[in-house]
Amino acid sequence: QDFGIAGKKMDVCSEEEQTEDYLFKIVLIGDSAVGKSNLLARFARDEFYSNSKSTIGVEFQTQKIDINGKEIKAQIWDTAGQERFRAVTSAYYRGAVGALLVYDISRRLTFENVGRWLNELHTHSDMNVVTILVGNKTDLKDAREVTTVEGKALAETQGLFFIETSALDSSNVSAAFRTVVEEIYHILSRKVM
Ligand code: GDP
Ligand code: MG
Repeated sequence: QDFGIAGKKMDVCSEEEQTEDYLFKIVLIGDSAVGKSNLLARFARDEFYSNSKSTIGVEFQTQKIDINGKEIKAQIWDTAGQERFRAVTSAYYRGAVGALLVYDISRRLTFENVGRWLNELHTHSDMNVVTILVGNKTDLKDAREVTTVEGKALAETQGLFFIETSALDSSNVSAAFRTVVEEIYHILSRKVM
């Protein structure tokens, strides 16, 4: 299987032989304003924006992640607001091996749209993309409209990982990204052995 990213074929070889770095393309998807850009800002730069300016301009950020002593580069793509116009292009999905599908636990509609995002992901990607369902904004306890149980149940039905996060108070943010990267790494290792 070709895990090539942006036209560049990745070197997959046994542990002793590995000289090339692992580079995984990971996409952030989900409705507008669920916190995609802020999850990335928190993870990559430990920053948070109370307005939506975090969305502007960022195409992707490369973040180094250590898994079992191996350095993995996660190239994390942000929609840069394209989703507002339902215009996330196929180029956005091309070569992605991981996805964070984000909804806002305080806005039920964003949870109801998860199926739509899954369809879009499956339409545009030609392999099994490791996907985690992310219920963001857990800090908004009083405004919660989607229970943890509901989120978990949907993830199980769809065969996704599941986590709840807050980009505001940082909870579980790195765990969300790491879960995806670790799983991709494990799938690759199994293929190589
Ligand atoms: P995007 O459109 O999915 O990229 O969402 P943004 O990252 O731009 O966030 C949309 C709005 O939600 C902004 O006002 C953020 O400050 C806010 N936001 C993002 N994450 C959280 C969070 O975890 N908790 C709270 N309370 N607000 C958040
Ligand atoms: Mg954004």
